[in-house]
This record gives sequence, C-alpha cells and structure tokens, in this order.
Amino acid sequence: TRLGRLIKEKAKSDVDKLFSGFSKTRESLSVVDELLTYWNLADTDRALLVSDFGPKISFRIVDTLREEIRDGKLKSGAEIKEALKRCILELLTSKGGNSELQLGFRKPAVIMIVGVNGGGKTTSLGKLAYRFKNEGVKVLMAAGDTFRAAARDQLEVWAERTGSEIVIDNDKKAKPESVLSQAVKRGKREEFDLVLCDTSGRLHTNYGLMEELVTCKKVIAKALPGAPNEILLVLDGTTGLNMLQQAKEFNDVVGVTGFILTKLDGTARGGCVVSVVDELGIPVKFIGVGEGLEDLQPFDAEAFVEAIFP
Ligand code: GDP
Repeated sequence: TRLGRLIKEKAKSDVDKLFSGFSKTRESLSVVDELLTYWNLADTDRALLVSDFGPKISFRIVDTLREEIRDGKLKSGAEIKEALKRCILELLTSKGGNSELQLGFRKPAVIMIVGVNGGGKTTSLGKLAYRFKNEGVKVLMAAGDTFRAAARDQLEVWAERTGSEIVIDNDKKAKPESVLSQAVKRGKREEFDLVLCDTSGRLHTNYGLMEELVTCKKVIAKALPGAPNEILLVLDGTTGLNMLQQAKEFNDVVGVTGFILTKLDGTARGGCVVSVVDELGIPVKFIGVGEGLEDLQPFDAEAFVEAIFP
C-alpha cells in the first residue's frame, strides 16, 4: 500500500541509526565473535542468553550450528558466524512474516496503539505521526487515554510538534471509546489519510483495561468497517524477556498485528526482539532507538542482524 511503502522506503536510509541504537546489545554480543573463532559453542549459547535471546532460541541456534559443523558444512569461525546470522534472520522472517505496515487501500487507515504505561506508547505515537507527516500524510490523532490527564496533554504537545490534528475530550468522565469513535468518523468525513488512536495503559493485569481495549476495537470497527488496520503493541525493550508474558496477554485479548519495541538503545537485551517474534509469531514493525523524533525506525530484519553481529 502507498502508506506502507513510504515507510518501507524510508527504512533503508536509516540503517545507521539502527546500528547505533543497538550498540549496547552489540557490545554484549561481541564476545560471540571471539568464541566462534575458537569454535567454542558451549559458551556461545551463554553469550546469547546474556542478551535475552532466551533459552529456547539460544540452544536451538547452537544445536543447528553444531549439526552443520558435524556435517562438514562450516569450515571456519567466519562461516560459523555467517550461519548464526542466517539462523536469526530465518527465524525473524519465517516466524514474524511481514514487518511492513498493512494499511489497506481505503482512507483513512486506522492504527490503534496499545501497551502499558511507561513503555513509550505516547512517544511512539508522536514519532509515528512525525514520520508520516514528513511523507505528506494527513494525520489525525485520537486521545483515547482518557484515564490519565497527563496522557492527553502529552499527546496534544505531540500533535502541535508534528502539525497533526487531534481529537480530544477534556471531560473527566470522557469515555475512550467515544473519543476514538468520534476521531474515526471525523477522519472519514474530512478525508484524513491516517488516524492514530492512543489508548489507556493501566497495568495489563487490570481486567478493566483489557475490556476497555476490546470495546475500543469494536467501536472503531463500527465507525469504519475493516478498521483498525493495525493494532500495534508497544513493549519496553529494557524489560527483555519479561515482555513475553505481557505480549501474550494483550494478544489474547485484542489480537495484536505488530510490535513496537522501545528503548532498545538503553539495553543490552536486544535479543528479546527475536524471542518475542518467535514466541508469538507476530512481526516487529518498529523499534525505538532513542528519544529523538527520528528515533523510531521501521524494523528491518537484515539491518538488525547486521547491527548486532557486524
Ligand atoms: P507511555 O506512558 O507508554 O505513553 O510512555 P511515554 O511515551 O511517556 O515514554 C516514557 C519514557 O520513555 C519517556 O521519557 C520517553 O522519552 C522514553 N522513551 C520512549 N521510547 C524511547 C526509546 O526508544 N528510547 C529511549 N531512550 N527512550 C524512550
């Protein structure tokens, strides 16, 4: 789709940002290079575990490498490293599938952003708006986190900063589903290209929140059949493997179509990118590699593998 392609094209030029965003993970994994030079696979799985690839993937990768060595397919440390990179890439592409946004052909496309507070939901929404605005896309934001006044204010700042329109209801008793429904209807009426829906982010263990998200999704679909086109779950990268449980819970209830993994610049636990895709079979669509406006990068599996194993 046009919107999706715009994002994808931009992705190619930002490999450097992605590379620097994964510096901590890369540093932590640099030991793998040395281990493989000495064909030391026993310590390689440990090195992968340190970066939160998780036991399942770490052992599976090393088992594959052992087999290929036994079969005489790999003849040097460099070849083993290439095989390791290929394993990770295969995992990401076979399990995750398409990391391009699927926004359909009809206007407006609707993206619902979900996730727990503090994970980077509002910031990511703002950065997404910035990306799209730069490509000439007409963006409408919907302040669906009516639970926290600060969230509304923050989103308003992002709307100003990115020159986006926003639908907001400052009434204390405002219902998120009513804000989102209004926004989608306005998006349709005024021919916006894209409606970005923020949602509440109280703890995921809070049943009320999950019910609320389901209602929001239904209301959006009612206002515009086929919408939302994407439900993106924002996950805090610094939590590493702990994000898996949260991802499962959100997915079970609302049906997630893609992940946004944030704060990967601040952690050596970048292997969780691979784990979450493997465990849930859902693609990572964007990753946050800093606090700047341009620090939300479309996920590119090849660039990711190069960034952690140059
Ligand atoms: P929300 O409660 O989920 O809406 O979280 P916010 O969007 O307010 O983000 C929480 C904090 O994380 C803010 O200080 C953001 O600047 C910061 N943050 C979000 N994404 C990233 C990222 O990719 N990298 C870094 N370093 N910080 C981030």
